[in-house]
Amino acid sequence: MSITKTTVMDKLRTVAGPDGKGNVVDLGLVSEIVIKDDRVYFSVTVPAERAAASEPLRLSAEKAVAGIPGVAGVTAVLTAEAPMGKSGNKAGNGAASKPAPAAKAGGVPGLPGVKHIIAVASGKGGVGKSTTATNLALGFKALGLNVGIFDADIYGPSQPRLMGLAKEQPSATEDEKKLLPIKAYGIGVMSMGFLVEEATPIVWRGPMVVQALQQMLFDVAWDDTGELDVLVIDMPPGTGDVQLTIAQQVPLSGAIIVSTPQDLALIDARKGLNMFRKVEVPVLGIIENMSYFIAPDTGKRYDIFGSGGAEKEAEKLGLTYLGGIPLHMDIRELSDAGTPIVAIVPDGPEAAIYKEIAAKAWGEVQTVKGIDAPLMKVAETRDSLKVTFKDGFAYDLPAEMLRVMSPSAEVQGHSAEQRVTVPGKRNVKIRELKPVGKYAAKITFDDGHDTGLYTWSYLLQLGEEKDERWAGYVKEMEQKGLSRG
Ligand code: ADP
Repeated sequence: MSITKTTVMDKLRTVAGPDGKGNVVDLGLVSEIVIKDDRVYFSVTVPAERAAASEPLRLSAEKAVAGIPGVAGVTAVLTAEAPMGKSGNKAGNGAASKPAPAAKAGGVPGLPGVKHIIAVASGKGGVGKSTTATNLALGFKALGLNVGIFDADIYGPSQPRLMGLAKEQPSATEDEKKLLPIKAYGIGVMSMGFLVEEATPIVWRGPMVVQALQQMLFDVAWDDTGELDVLVIDMPPGTGDVQLTIAQQVPLSGAIIVSTPQDLALIDARKGLNMFRKVEVPVLGIIENMSYFIAPDTGKRYDIFGSGGAEKEAEKLGLTYLGGIPLHMDIRELSDAGTPIVAIVPDGPEAAIYKEIAAKAWGEVQTVKGIDAPLMKVAETRDSLKVTFKDGFAYDLPAEMLRVMSPSAEVQGHSAEQRVTVPGKRNVKIRELKPVGKYAAKITFDDGHDTGLYTWSYLLQLGEEKDERWAGYVKEMEQKGLSRG
């Protein structure tokens, strides 16, 4: 008998809600049920402040569904309902009219206990991104930095294996509020791979993946042994929606792109580069993996792809060339064994290369300069935002304009015909303003919209082109027969 969503729903009706009242289905907490090859995947939404305490609920939901005849496996994840401001009030229950105080401009970026987050990304899979992320993180460690690794490669989490932690399971902090990263070689690691087996194909759709990742990222006590200098994120390969959303919503200090020499000249590495540039995450540089070949028997170097080409290519793209890593059997064998080369052979020539790259990348983090942080002030009435740039230019940007010209649509580069024109926002208000990293602010509106990072340069552009853009919007509305509400 094949499993149906209805059977799963019916079974989940036997699972009580968070307060022991009602059941998770009728309370509307179960979102999206995916059934593939007799495996069932779904998520249960719980209030953010209850996320840590809701593990028993998740387990009973998983257990209930596992009891359905024919079900080969179940994966249930908790997704947190976004809290409103710091008060934890939910939207839409009357509390929405009480706006949260605006965050101070230039405040601390979003992830407590972590100074810098660096994404390690690639235009496509199989270029050695995860291997490079691991050894780079160990290179940072060798510089004396306090380091963590977050494995966001949800489609193929490999950090547990690479760091020799495949059999580990994370435990919680004493107050059970957060997960403790698992330590290997002095680095704290967190990965979806600890919770889902590596072989399990993850078939969730984009938004669910991003929610699950964000929840994980923020639910880890990264600073359990002191503040982290740097958290390395092993990104999912490619440049789809999931990657774009991570780039937009995680407060990144910068990104590093891993590429092979062949791909560097081709489209994939450029796609990765363009994705970060669009959302204005500084690209710290590019690492050329499998740059040349070292024969294991003789140690002789073969420049299979010629030499110096990648460096020139990087220069053409306006990118810092962080260095080339050889294709070497030891790198692969030690990775597969969960004993990364930088940790196991710290004085070898390969470790020296990774350490040099880490030092160069760290230097880039320090020198990354964008536009200086503007002063941002939300009006008393919360219907506009005043942005004052260092050079003295100041712009009043109406909440309605910010809302309908949200950058999440803009970065997709849609033309006016393709673009979804957002109507009916005449009275929208700014609920919260939060600085993100050193390059952007996140704005939450009182209609619940909170995606999209407003980079400082996007705000500058909106200010400079305010009148033309507004006229364009009004015209688009007219053409589509829509109204401002
Ligand atoms: P990605 O994360 O891009 O999918 P991985 O890091 O999983 O790639 O690497 C793919 C394969 O290539 C792995 O078997 C890994 O051990 C191997 N590999 C990566 N970098 C090197 C290298 N410099 N030399 C030899 N093998 C490598």
